[in-house]
Amino acid sequence: MAADRRIVIENCAIATVDAHDTEYASGYVVLAGNRIESLGAGTAPEGLENVVRRIDASGHLVTPGLVNTHHHFYQWITRGLATDHNLFDWLVALYPVWARIDEPMVRAAAQGSLAVMARGGVTTAMDHHYVFPQGSGDLSGAIIGAARDMGVRFTLARGSMDRSEKDGGLPPDFAVETLDGALAATEETVRQHHDSSFDAMTQVAVAPCSPFSVSTELLRDGAQLARRLGVRLHTHGSETVEEEKFCHELFGMGPTDYFESTGWLGEDVWMAHCVHMNDSDIAAFARTRTGVAHCPSSNARLAAGIARVPDMLAAGVPVGLGVDGTASNESGELHTELRNALLINRLGPHREAALNARQALRLGTYGGAQVLGRAAETGSLEPGKLADLVLWKLDTVAHASIADPVTALVFGAAAPVTASFVDGRQIVEDGRLLTADEDAIARSTRDEAQRLARIAAQG
Ligand SMILES: [Zn+2]
Repeated sequence: MAADRRIVIENCAIATVDAHDTEYASGYVVLAGNRIESLGAGTAPEGLENVVRRIDASGHLVTPGLVNTHHHFYQWITRGLATDHNLFDWLVALYPVWARIDEPMVRAAAQGSLAVMARGGVTTAMDHHYVFPQGSGDLSGAIIGAARDMGVRFTLARGSMDRSEKDGGLPPDFAVETLDGALAATEETVRQHHDSSFDAMTQVAVAPCSPFSVSTELLRDGAQLARRLGVRLHTHGSETVEEEKFCHELFGMGPTDYFESTGWLGEDVWMAHCVHMNDSDIAAFARTRTGVAHCPSSNARLAAGIARVPDMLAAGVPVGLGVDGTASNESGELHTELRNALLINRLGPHREAALNARQALRLGTYGGAQVLGRAAETGSLEPGKLADLVLWKLDTVAHASIADPVTALVFGAAAPVTASFVDGRQIVEDGRLLTADEDAIARSTRDEAQRLARIAAQG
């Protein structure tokens, strides 16, 4: 939208998720081009020029768009498999299937993952993609193209694996890249696709998969590569007790100390899970401002445990939310993770003081923007920030009698999205995508899932 064209949203409750958690029971937001121009209580200022649209948002809560910080899009076509396994057994069962993916499969899976997140209020998505079978095509290009077509802001974490079974790792030998091949391809992806500008729609991070699927050299050289190119770093860390044991056996130290020894703690790093962290691990993350992608549903699905989110927040660790790959979280929805994060953390030692509704909303918005390195641009509603926001419909029978709108959004059923804007452009209307054909995506993802299953069965 041209910079001088304005959209006015009025008569809505607003949760800004700014530094003071400012909220308005009834207020307005003015978008100008791809930015938020103004917001506040009451009605919009009079005399605004070039207003192309006025939205009466009565009965709605407006929040920043949700930010997803951990996902594996390709898993959209391997959902519902190995449903009663822990992480390592689940990985061993699925790697041989994943090793057969190709470009059409990955494109369809990315569209499916993005469609479900976008219609549920996600405005910034990410994909940690680390399976690059030889001859499988331009997988990074397919994923980035799918995000661009859907109209969501996007970070591709270009993953890699080079520690296969013959080196004591978990992936089969044919599913990994060489050290040099992985580093060169990652650098090429950054050079081709990473945009460092304020309102970038596409960014790229360097993202070796995990301690049990990559070599120490790939971690160390990957960190150096990211810092040379000025991009962020992402990986999985401290997910399960089995991983902790693996690190002690192979490296003689726990995961956090291992990451520190390879250059992997820092304000330019965010890590998925971080379930098994002791006090000194949390202190190291806080001291170095290393971010965490908290994935409560995936951790529950794989019986990994409960991350110490309240302790991390108290220590000052930046924490965002992630759905994780949909082979370990079949729903793939982020708005339901607000509720799951709150409820699951209350099963931990802090009980009812673990998280409240505002903290859960902050994890899914500002916290996510922080760990993706984009908190100056998105994640809260403030003048000058990007026009990434969601209108949640809270006046139906599901929510209308819940006392407070933020409580309704987080504690209640998954709220319908009346409108979602990314970069000032509306991508969802009345729960349907404006930028993609959901029915066509449903068909293509089913077809590609069946094709993958057939190929994998042939061995
Ligand atoms: Zn993951």
